[in-house]
Amino acid sequence: MFEKVLIANRGEIALRIHRACREMGIKTVAVHSTADANAMHVRLADEAVCIGPPSAKDSYLNKAAIISAATITGSDAIHPGYGFLSENADFAEMVEDHGIVWIGPEPKHIRMMGDKVTAKIAALNAGLPCVPGSPGAVETAEEALRLGGEIGYPVLIKASAGGGGRGMKVATSDADIVEQWRMARQEALSAFGNAEVYMEKYLGNPRHIEIQILADSHGNVVHLGERDCSLQRRHQKVLEEAPSPALNAIERARIGEIACTAMQKIGYRNAGTIEFLYENGEFFFIEMNTRLQVEHPVTEMITGLDLVREQLRIADGAPLGYTQDEVGFYGHAIECRINAEDPATFRPCPGKVTEYHPPGGLGVRVDSGLYAGATVPPHYDSMIAKLIVHGTSRNECLMRLRRALGEFVVGGIETTIPLHVQLVNNADFQNGDYDIRWLEEFLKTV
Ligand code: ADP
Repeated sequence: MFEKVLIANRGEIALRIHRACREMGIKTVAVHSTADANAMHVRLADEAVCIGPPSAKDSYLNKAAIISAATITGSDAIHPGYGFLSENADFAEMVEDHGIVWIGPEPKHIRMMGDKVTAKIAALNAGLPCVPGSPGAVETAEEALRLGGEIGYPVLIKASAGGGGRGMKVATSDADIVEQWRMARQEALSAFGNAEVYMEKYLGNPRHIEIQILADSHGNVVHLGERDCSLQRRHQKVLEEAPSPALNAIERARIGEIACTAMQKIGYRNAGTIEFLYENGEFFFIEMNTRLQVEHPVTEMITGLDLVREQLRIADGAPLGYTQDEVGFYGHAIECRINAEDPATFRPCPGKVTEYHPPGGLGVRVDSGLYAGATVPPHYDSMIAKLIVHGTSRNECLMRLRRALGEFVVGGIETTIPLHVQLVNNADFQNGDYDIRWLEEFLKTV
């Protein structure tokens, strides 16, 4: 096993990775920007290296600085976490070229899934059901018009290089398809530096259900069930749960098996998430994330597996220590993403945390780098904590979540805790009766 791992990330996920390493007796190296000099991941790591000024492009996205930090500290491997360089195939290649182990999939698979057009083609070839749509990129206005009619309105125009829920446009008829196609290309170019777009049938009321898979380098693949991430604002996840209130054991086993077979065909390695939209009993692949997900803890809570430990073991060449039949699902888990934002307007609210009291007790987990006196810098994503609760049933989980949210104190800055309190008290949410549009409608009423 590795002796020293460099964690190329910040915030709660850097801490999460550090914890898994520490339990396995692996030394950790934190990297940080000048804005994060006093961050918890830096304080807890065995070593820390400052890699640049606050701006992410000069620090957490600075490939050369991170590779240098790994080299001077004698790190054996790099864990990228999520976001930043985690899905950057060039960086993964650079890491490997320097004789350092990349804790993640092979660069070719990161590249394949990073471009949504090639990802969809690969998914189709591997037998995953996809949303009906254009066979590839839509390059001309004439093509957009023809395909719009063929697919049937409404259609969604999406950026091939898209991510973070950005760069999507809906066209409702032949009359607006060309204009929406043009706008989508323009937005894609300015947001991602790549104007390429593709088209999909716009599903009316689907749920977002994703399958977690683990694959070792010996050809073994298992799935760890699903996560329901339908509660979204602007296509960004707000709260996730496992299992999904909408699936039964037969459907879970069916889609899980399809996902595993596809990963075996592709020859995928390490942890990955296959995202689907689910409507009227049917699954439609939308994309694959070739990294650890923000919402991985809900899977950990119901399976008892430490996903970061699994990633480390797989990267070290170890076989999975269990078969699909040995993966059990126990109870129910919910994760609330807590952001430093005004809960009504969602305006970011960085600043100094004056008071901090996380909830505790049976079945309560808080993943966060916060402490009283910490400063939430304005330069990065506004997510500052994840509250994860586990219960023997969904009902117990909801009762526990309500109790835990009531204990959570973060002083000095605004957070989205009040939004989660509203959600847990809502009858539709309590009944598991929601789809990807539900939250935005709900927000109009409060
Ligand atoms: P990103 O990589 O930007 O997150 P995704 O393809 O994962 O983009 O889609 C993000 C979200 O957008 C989905 O969870 C869903 O809410 C919505 N979405 C994506 N594709 C469709 C579609 N074909 N029909 C309806 N909604 C969609």
